[in-house]
This record gives sequence, structure tokens and C-alpha cells, in this order.
Amino acid sequence: MKLLIVEDESKIGEYLRQGLTEAGFVVDLARNGLDGQHLAMTGHYDLLILDVMLPDVDGWRVLKSLRETGNQVPVLFLTARDNVDDRVKGLELGADDYLVKPFAFAELLARVRTLLRRGAVPPTETTLKIADLELDLTRRRVSRAGQRIHLAAKEFALLELLMRRQSEVLPRSLIASQVWDMNFDSDTNVIDVVIRRLRAKIDDGFELKLIHTVRGMGYMLDVSDES
Ligand code: CA
Repeated sequence: MKLLIVEDESKIGEYLRQGLTEAGFVVDLARNGLDGQHLAMTGHYDLLILDVMLPDVDGWRVLKSLRETGNQVPVLFLTARDNVDDRVKGLELGADDYLVKPFAFAELLARVRTLLRRGAVPPTETTLKIADLELDLTRRRVSRAGQRIHLAAKEFALLELLMRRQSEVLPRSLIASQVWDMNFDSDTNVIDVVIRRLRAKIDDGFELKLIHTVRGMGYMLDVSDES
């Protein structure tokens, strides 16, 4: 899952980026409203964390322009003011939730998870299952045939993406945009290296191979074992 934080206070921004990355998300950070707006419009994010008070384009204007283009990405507002008018304004503009600063990181994480569950994944679906492979989104655990498999953060994010889009060929560019942040140089062979490690952990020792290379196209997770 990929998040965008728009926050001009670098201490808070870095703190959130680090915490959310450790919680297993892919995180981009914009330090002003204009960059935030541009990234939100052009990137594919599962959720935005948007500070209201920004020096150039404020959080409300970012949200307004997003909604005007039909972008319905869930938005969590960060506001320094516990002001009823502000809250109403944010919610009227189409914010999904808001959090008043200062807040505890645990609370932010809980709100983020709730908003993401409201979206594409039904609330009950916390485990993705394909054949004998299971990925538990809440406990961040993976197992195959009941055997626990330990994955690094990127391996987990990549497997989650492959499982959510089962039987679809995912080009490297799409994998890069979903699993890595905006500073990632997709000209390197990092994706192939992570795929290789993931495949060794998921498929080695099993007759049914799940992760497939589609030559010249990308990668795919599928139960039909043809490659
Ligand atoms: Ca601010």
C-alpha cells in the first residue's frame, strides 16, 4: 500500500515517513502543497495524509482540486487547530477523516488502517489466500502450506501487490511505482533482485510455482504452472 504525506514541518514529515515505512507502507513525502498536489494527481496512492496549513497551496485547496478532477483517494487531514469550523470545512470538501496535532503515532496508524480497509479491501478480508500461500495483512505474516515465511519489507510489499493482482502481468514500471517511493531509480535491477529473493522464499521446495516471469513484460503470480 502506497501513501503520500504532504507536510511542510520536516520533523513531523520525517517522523511520519519513518513510522509508516516501518509499519510496512511505501511512503512518499511532499514538503509543500504544490509538490503534494502534483504527486497526488500523477501518482497512484492508496491514501493521502494532508496537512492543512501549508505555506503555498494549503491542504484544502489540494483536496478541492483533487476532488474536482474526480480523484477519490481517501484523505486524512492533519490540523493544528481543534476548530469545529475547520473540521466541517475539511469534511465538506471530501476529507475522509482528520486528526488534530499533536497526536500519538499509534492513533494515526489506526486511522490510516481504518481508512484503507474502507476502500478496496472489505473489512473482513485481512488475509489474502492463493493456493496454499497466505498473507496476513494485519499481522504482516506470510505462510505457505502452513509454514511461516519471513520476508523483508520490500518482499512483503511486492508479494502483496502480486497477490492482489493475481494472474495479471505486472510490468516493472508498475511494480516500481507501487512498491518503491518516488526516489527509486527504476533503471537498476533492484526489482529483479527482490523478485529472485521472494521467489526463493515462496517457491523453492514446492512443486507448484506461483511467481512467474513473463519475458519482456514483467512478473505475475498465478496458480497455473506453465513457466
Ligand atoms: Ca504545516
